[in-house]
Amino acid sequence: MHELSVTEEMLRIATQHAQEAQAKRITSIHLVVGDLSSIVDDSVQFYFDFLSKGTIAEGARLRFTRVAPRLRCRNCGGEFAMRPMDWTCPHCGAAGGDVVAGREFYLDAIEVE
Ligand SMILES: [Zn+2]
Repeated sequence: MHELSVTEEMLRIATQHAQEAQAKRITSIHLVVGDLSSIVDDSVQFYFDFLSKGTIAEGARLRFTRVAPRLRCRNCGGEFAMRPMDWTCPHCGAAGGDVVAGREFYLDAIEVE
């Protein structure tokens, strides 16, 4: 269900931009998806195919760029890749940190005709 609402929103934005550019058709949509966002590519594609029927985005290809999760250490401020089951800062050894990348989901670009 999560993917349904984000796909609706993504389609709305893409269609709006395409209409502003007076495009006849959207050929592809580039999306940036963080690995922590719990967005499943196949689900987005599934909802997109359903929702885009009869719109200028029908048949557009979705292209996903996945973003690996990163943390910022609360102790030293260093950034590091989040590893499974290990949130220890490799710079200073402190545990945990704030997520600075990996939760995003946004429309990066659209290609139109
Ligand atoms: Zn640190």
